Amino acid sequence: MVASLNEKLESAYQEVLRRNPGEIEFHQAVREVLETLGPVLAKYPEFAEHKIIQRICEPERQIIFRVPWQDDQGQVQINRGFRVEFNSALGPYKGGLRFHPSVYLGIIKFLGFEQVFKNALTGMPIGGGKGGSDFDPKGKSNSEIMRFCQSFMTELYRHLGEYTDVPAGDIGVGGREIGYLFGQYKRITNRYESGILTGKGLDWGGSRVRTEATGYGTIFFVNEMLKARGDGLEGKTCVVSGSGNVAIYAIEKATELGAKVIACSDSNGVIIDQNGLDLDLIKQIKEIERRRISVYAQEKKGATYLESGNIWTIPCQVALPCATQNELHGKDAETLVKNGCIAVAEGANMPTTPEGIRVFQESGIAYGPGKAANAGGVATSALEMQQNASRDSWSFEYTEQRLQDIMINIHRNCHETAAEFGAPGNYVVGANITGFFKVARSMVAMGLI
Ligand code: NDP
Repeated sequence: MVASLNEKLESAYQEVLRRNPGEIEFHQAVREVLETLGPVLAKYPEFAEHKIIQRICEPERQIIFRVPWQDDQGQVQINRGFRVEFNSALGPYKGGLRFHPSVYLGIIKFLGFEQVFKNALTGMPIGGGKGGSDFDPKGKSNSEIMRFCQSFMTELYRHLGEYTDVPAGDIGVGGREIGYLFGQYKRITNRYESGILTGKGLDWGGSRVRTEATGYGTIFFVNEMLKARGDGLEGKTCVVSGSGNVAIYAIEKATELGAKVIACSDSNGVIIDQNGLDLDLIKQIKEIERRRISVYAQEKKGATYLESGNIWTIPCQVALPCATQNELHGKDAETLVKNGCIAVAEGANMPTTPEGIRVFQESGIAYGPGKAANAGGVATSALEMQQNASRDSWSFEYTEQRLQDIMINIHRNCHETAAEFGAPGNYVVGANITGFFKVARSMVAMGLI
């Protein structure tokens, strides 16, 4: 069953379908937001008058470019690069770069659209954008990754700036790639502008806790959701999908707070370790050796590997999707609820399908959408920008405390807004309305932008 939209929202949605044919992930992300905005438009008619919905669904600028590079055999390869500068009402465009073969304009637009509301929720002065390429980093040598990043930045550099557009990492883009991108920017421009990228190395302008921030933030968020129900993460059994940056640091913080994480995955399969995952081994396999997660089961006694397994069939109390979009379907949600799951927080962007979200909401479990639950990554990027602007460098403890305060604040705002608009406990309503409201008010104040 699909929730209906009122007449104004339905006509705005139809316009999005018409102007963006085939971009199904973008349609999905827009619809999920519009479904929650009816009460806001009823209370604040000026937003409809100023055509805020129509404007907010149209990116300010979309850049698509050719990325030619040479592989180790000397063959010329061609990929496509994207940067969608979605909305700058609150600050410079901010959002990561994704390198994955599935990337096309519709994926980058859905991510950019989500980013606008997420960034507003953080309370930091950042607009929303996203970028990336259909380049597949899997199996590529270090030199190939470097040559690709250099070619990508050779076009992208002209669009960046500390007050214009500040990318970071996402799937397939971590510290190594940010290093190559920054190096090329510096070479082309002959300027050391720390503020043009976040996720930098600690020796050259990066912030402590940025690497950990998205995973840690997701755990702070789920803990707040549980606390709001008189419970907490301690003693809970968790499963985390993915085994990349977000998954690893979600596992780390959950374990630190007394939970037991028994499973994680990659796009090939799932590992299960009922004694609790050995995070040092996971970091060794994924961060240092860059190998597949199946290696864990070969090296750890008592662990099992399920080739092509479905992680959501493993009974748990807390489920943390931290891999990719639409990885948790309606049936998976039903299985999780049936197996006693009481909370879901999304480290990934839009990992739960609309059917899955409906199942979670109807079952009454705590469900934290990515916009709110994974906002700690971009919030800490904004803290990196603050440190760069003041040429300062904060301690781990101080930065982590700032991150935790931000996540507590996001949770409180979402919780209060949901109750105010007649949907207590509904974090989708809370997150969408809180984020939308801030961007919409700013757009009205700035005239026709
Ligand atoms: P990484 O590239 O570090 O890790 C991605 C992980 O997800 C890998 O384990 C990967 O497995 C798995 N994965 C990717 N695609 C699929 C797929 N189609 N099916 C199953 N597994 C898959 O990325 P991140 O950890 O940075 O990002 C994960 C999610 O978190 C994304 O949705 C991203 O948008 C979101 N996010 C990231 C932030 C950040 O700061 N990095 C901030 C906010 C959100 P494999 O190696 O097999 O591909």
